[in-house]
Amino acid sequence: MEFKTFNKGGVHPADKKLTAGVAIKPLAIPATVTIPCAQHIGAPAEIIVQKGDKVKVGQLIAKANGFVSANIHSSVSGTVKNIGPVADASGYTKQAVIIQVEGDEWDETIDRTPDLKRNIDDLKPEDIINKVHDAGIVGMGGATFPTKVKLSVPLGKKAEAVIINAVECEPYLTADHRVMLEKGDELMIGTQLIMKAVNCENAYIGIEANKPDAIKHLTELSANYPGIKVVPLKLKYPQGSEKHLIAAVTGREVPSGRLPIDVGAVVDNAGTAVAIYEAVMKNKPLFERVVTVTGDSVKNPGNFLVRIGTPISALIEAVGGLPEDTGKIISGGPMMGKAVTTLDIPVAKGTSGVLVLPESLAHRGEAENCIRCGKCVDACPMGLEPYLLAALAKRKNFEELENNHVTDCIECGCCVFSCPSNRPILDFVRFGKQSVMKIIRSRKK
Ligand code: SF4
Ligand code: SF4
Repeated sequence: MEFKTFNKGGVHPADKKLTAGVAIKPLAIPATVTIPCAQHIGAPAEIIVQKGDKVKVGQLIAKANGFVSANIHSSVSGTVKNIGPVADASGYTKQAVIIQVEGDEWDETIDRTPDLKRNIDDLKPEDIINKVHDAGIVGMGGATFPTKVKLSVPLGKKAEAVIINAVECEPYLTADHRVMLEKGDELMIGTQLIMKAVNCENAYIGIEANKPDAIKHLTELSANYPGIKVVPLKLKYPQGSEKHLIAAVTGREVPSGRLPIDVGAVVDNAGTAVAIYEAVMKNKPLFERVVTVTGDSVKNPGNFLVRIGTPISALIEAVGGLPEDTGKIISGGPMMGKAVTTLDIPVAKGTSGVLVLPESLAHRGEAENCIRCGKCVDACPMGLEPYLLAALAKRKNFEELENNHVTDCIECGCCVFSCPSNRPILDFVRFGKQSVMKIIRSRKK
């Protein structure tokens, strides 16, 4: 079997996929859910319910507000208890709808039968794109970019390859791995729907070598789905970054400041493909997702089907509570996830995992002087000079930061991972990148 990968940089953290063999279990519906109206990149959705309203599972509660935005649906049935600002995993407060759960009454239009719906022949591209929009589908790998926008290929551009991102290169996370094993046909039909929406005859499912069962299963299934191929990939972080996946699968480089469609690629995550199947073929909006809850000292780590808005505390309870040696709780994976300070944070559309790190792994070593070893430069998959960017950011030299392409940084953390001096490189680079992006935006205005 040939395993592909990208050329520049990358690192090899221990993959620690503790829950790869644990089947997805539905998590009990909590007593209340907190559903933020900004769970995606772009404009927050506009809340259309009021305190005291009764809602059903799958009912629209906040409407997309512009082209780059996404609808939000209730994940439970019950009464709207409150509407107000709450903190989410990003640390920022956002408007949210808080719903008191009463029963589990689904919107009647959702097809809840277990039958697989295969026939996509009568669907037109615009039918698929409209359904994806209505269902509030966003990238579920963590990027949360509204999927409708990705499927709307701009005039003058052509999709030549649909790529399903089934890499899941972040250590510990296994949600997509389980989805591939347990929802393989749904993933394949979702992929066919994407192909039809963007008018493309070729699709590739990129899977890393540490998931041989998923590679085998989907390769076998692909015999029934013309045009869809599984592409096994070498184990290398950040193989799941959109640009690096495109490079590995197609050999094409997305130039600085350009989009995947500029090189003919449309990339969607594996869980997103299944959500597209459910939206189009079952009329089911995106109100639940698979979340990995894991950690070295966690008693019963697992993969759970969780209603959006469920507090992280309920997930922690489901795996046996917080271990005594807990040092840090992360929403997402250890490389790109965000540390959370309270367990009240709700699960959102982009929450792929909750990771409990023990004290021994939770803290960086003390930062020492840069020894100019160049390891961060070798590790950077974007071909940047992280030590230099960090130094420029520290001096607030934004002009030089821009000249040195700080905005290309994908915040993957490879530089920090490889630095023998424990330099907080990414903290500085992220600050520099945000500052330069602000300057660029105001210049455009
Ligand atoms: S975080 Fe940015 S600077 Fe550091 S390795 Fe990744 S892309 Fe390069
Ligand atoms: S890896 Fe660390 S010590 Fe080496 S050059 Fe980069 S910042 Fe300096």
